[in-house]
Order: sequence, then structure tokens, then C-alpha cells
Amino acid sequence: MSRLGYLGQLSKRWGTRAPKQLYHMMRLHRTSFSTILRNMFEALEDVDGKFAFPTIAAIAKMRPDLVREIVERGHEVASHGYNHVRYPTLSPKAREKDFALSLQVYKKLGIKIEGFRAPYDNYTPDMPVILEKYGLMWDGGFGYQAEHRDRTHFFRVDLDGTPSKVTYIPLNIWSDDLMIDSKGMAPKSVTKTLNETVLDASKKGGVIMFDLHPIRMGQPEFAICLREVVEYAHGLGAWCPTPSEAVKYWNSHNTWKGDSSFCLLLTGDIDNWVFSDYLRRVLWKRQM
Ligand SMILES: [Zn+2]
Repeated sequence: MSRLGYLGQLSKRWGTRAPKQLYHMMRLHRTSFSTILRNMFEALEDVDGKFAFPTIAAIAKMRPDLVREIVERGHEVASHGYNHVRYPTLSPKAREKDFALSLQVYKKLGIKIEGFRAPYDNYTPDMPVILEKYGLMWDGGFGYQAEHRDRTHFFRVDLDGTPSKVTYIPLNIWSDDLMIDSKGMAPKSVTKTLNETVLDASKKGGVIMFDLHPIRMGQPEFAICLREVVEYAHGLGAWCPTPSEAVKYWNSHNTWKGDSSFCLLLTGDIDNWVFSDYLRRVLWKRQM
């Protein structure tokens, strides 16, 4: 088959966007994940900013060294499920199994998990019940739903008339995918967009959380945005801890640590370490 014929077949099966997206991900994965993480750690350490990495457990167990390094550097690892599947497509039983398996993996790795974000931010109404059952401290994806994402403070979910013990964190709409892939923003515009959003949040005295995937934000040209946004937020009086620290402190003091007037939480999911992980997931998904 000619090259064009082959591409035609591909796009017929996958839509015209898929080959482009594959090529794009392949390019991003030319930067190794240890470099990606190092770029992020260095950018954040300069300004004493912390970061939380909701990570797919099946991926985490392939590189325990990287996951442990995240924790050793003072950042946080959260569960992002065992497999990167859309939870609403699973049966309630399979959903709980996937989640429980992710916790088991981290337990074996010796990593304490307090937080969760569902793959694709896709939640079913039973998910808060599951998080409650397994005693998690915080969730950072449920709050992406349209009715929650503009909230300015932590919130609880109603469970049959009682408020959840799990603390839910609103998730802002400005993600790296939206800024970099969809809007084609250069690093300067990314910093500007994040800073403007942080400025807005600073006036409300609450919390703001971003989802900034390491695969894009850890590239050398974008890692600097992390330093710039934390520096800017500090200037406005922000505290930039891990979500666990923030939730623990707020829930016992009802205020932010020190003289901080608001809280900035930086997070970003890790779905794959290398391009072949990504490819495997995409191919597998297409077969279903
Ligand atoms: Zn993900």
C-alpha cells in the first residue's frame, strides 16, 4: 500500500486528529521522563513550590525509582487509578477493583497515598463512596465538573445526607493541554494566563489548583513557567504546598499557614513514562 493509502486507512479508522496527536506525543517523549522531572524539580526548588503527581499505578510500578524520587524531593504522589481507563465505562465492581489495585501497588512501593484524580477527570456518582471507603484525604478531579470548577474553596460531597470526610478540591480549567495543544500558547502566554488566573484567585482567599501534565510542563521551555507562576503567587501572598499539606492544615486551622492569604496547588498527571506506554494504551483502547 502506498504511504498515502496507509495514512488514509489510519485516518479512516482513527479520525484525522489521531496520527497528528501520535506524532506530537512521540516528539514530547523524546525528552526522557527523568529529565522532565528534573526540569520540574529544579524550577520549583528555586522558589520553594511543591507539586502533586497523580500517577497511573501500572506505570508507577515500572519505574519505582522515579516515583520515589518525587517523594524524596518533597513533592506528592497521588493515585490516578491502576489503568488509564474511563471509569464510567467500567462496571461498579471493576471500577473499585481498579482503584483498590492502584492503592495496593503504591503500598508495595512504600508510598503513602492520600489523594486521587480519576483518569480523564471522568467520575461516576459512586466514586465519592469508594474514596470514602478507602479513607482518602483529598480528591483533585471531581472538582473539574462544570458546577464545581469555579469554586474558590475546598468542598465536601453529600453522601446520603452526611458530608464526605474526603476533601474535594476545585480544578481550574486552564490545563497545559488547553493552553499548549489547543490554543498553541508559547511559554510566555502560558505564564501570563496562569498568573492572571492566580491574581483573580488571590482576591478570594481560597484555593486554586491547576492540572499541568509533566509531559508538557517538564519540557525545558515550559518548566520555567512553573517557577514564574509560583514566584508571582508568592508575591501575592500565596502558600504553595502539596495538596495533602494544604488539606491537613486548612481542615484543622480554617486558614492558610503563616501569613499566606491564599493557596496555590500545582498538580499534573503522569499517564506514561515513554512513548511505547502511550502507544500501547491508545492501540488497546481503539480495539475496544
Ligand atoms: Zn491521565
